Amino acid sequence: MNNKSSEEIRVRFAPSPTGDPHLGAMRTALFNWAFAKKNGGKFILRIEDTDKKRQVEGSVENIIEGLNWLGLNYDEGPEIGGDYGPYIQSQRKKLYINAVNNLLDDGNAYMCDLSTNELEKMKEEQKLQGKPPGYNGYSRNRPRKELEKSKKNGLPIVVRLKVPLSGNIEFADLRRGPMKFDLSKIDDFVILKADEMPTYHLASVVDDSSMNISHVLRGEEWISSTPKHLLLYKFLGLEPPSFVHLPLIFGKDKAKLSKRHGANSIIEYKESGLLPEALVNYISLLGWSPRNNKEVLKYRDIIELFDFKGLSVSPSIFDPEKLNWLNGVHIRSLDDKTLIQITSEKLSEELKDSTDLVDKNKLSEIIPLIKERVKSIDEIYPSIKFFFVYIKPEDSIIKCGPLNKNEIKNNLKELVDNFSTLLEKNKTNHKDIEILLRSNCEKLDLKLRDYLGLVRNCITGSEISPPLFESIEILGLEESISRIQDCINIL
Ligand code: GLU
Repeated sequence: MNNKSSEEIRVRFAPSPTGDPHLGAMRTALFNWAFAKKNGGKFILRIEDTDKKRQVEGSVENIIEGLNWLGLNYDEGPEIGGDYGPYIQSQRKKLYINAVNNLLDDGNAYMCDLSTNELEKMKEEQKLQGKPPGYNGYSRNRPRKELEKSKKNGLPIVVRLKVPLSGNIEFADLRRGPMKFDLSKIDDFVILKADEMPTYHLASVVDDSSMNISHVLRGEEWISSTPKHLLLYKFLGLEPPSFVHLPLIFGKDKAKLSKRHGANSIIEYKESGLLPEALVNYISLLGWSPRNNKEVLKYRDIIELFDFKGLSVSPSIFDPEKLNWLNGVHIRSLDDKTLIQITSEKLSEELKDSTDLVDKNKLSEIIPLIKERVKSIDEIYPSIKFFFVYIKPEDSIIKCGPLNKNEIKNNLKELVDNFSTLLEKNKTNHKDIEILLRSNCEKLDLKLRDYLGLVRNCITGSEISPPLFESIEILGLEESISRIQDCINIL
């Protein structure tokens, strides 16, 4: 069978709005997008909503939000339109009905009035007889008039494709090579349901053809549908696109990827502070490799390097740790300006009542302190919150090695005096602070870890913080003194 010879590359991402978009779906979107971008083609979003029973409210919005967040911009789609719209299948019914009528008129399809109950009964009987359960061609040879009468009488009617009883159908997957399917194993499948909605098979073929799709890149789970689609193309006299099936994604236990493997929906990832470029990098490696040992990839690398040869044919394994690692790598490679912008948005959101505290100048000093350590955007706010709000530490963490409360109190009082002296002398640089704290520690004959720990806990309210001397400099000696004073009062 010939594939579309049209010169323009047109690919589509065709999700069904049956829930929140997951990693696998977004990977399909990404590969389609990259293939289109690389070849100067068009990337199209089409919503496949013909199964109204499975539709979940808000799903279309989440798919669009997910694609936008990931930066997988489409050239044609539901809200932006395009020359081949509408891009929502439930709005394209006429096209499907036309195709069904053609198939009926040509004798390649037929109506069937077998009820769902009767069909189930048929399958049970087949099972009892040790046969594979399926539709047995009940209406295949019945006159069309008889079935039209059933329809008039209000019986639920479906339309089925008249699949040849023998022979093969072949196609060449652009990555996996030639594939052959035995037609005798394919039922006369439904193409139009009793509610006059097309099934996925019919709608997909009609739309891929009428939207001039040149390549269909979709998950491996759809391979068994491809021979059905090819039959439809043949019966409708249409040229099929080329097909590429993408490898399945499993969890580490080789089971189908799900929440329990740590895989979240794209919306959850978005809300968790993951960088979109990190997620895109990670999903690009699920079943594809640029074959140059490179793992850290930016958008432009993916576009440049994407090809079908790099696609794996065996399932890929989702590894949340690698995703987190890549996220850290991407965060560290962001320029300070971008990181400051992201952080300042987060701060304004978190510190609604005290927005005056969000001083961008401060952030430009703070961000370089933490940049090398963060693994997720979400970690940034908790680790720098103490610069903007003081949360007094629990008295249990105002401790210092072997010292008792009174001794600690005296040391802190002395530190307040020392800091005041530094302030008077205008010695507020982190180097001056470091010299002072080290020499205090020596004088007191304490372990550096214990003494600095005490100072850190008092000033930041937490046992973990960015580098202490620099933090005190940024916070200012005055504010630091007031915090130590608070701790003295707690003791
Ligand atoms: N609507 C199908 C899905 O949800 C599309 C499959 C295809 O790409 O043909 O994945």
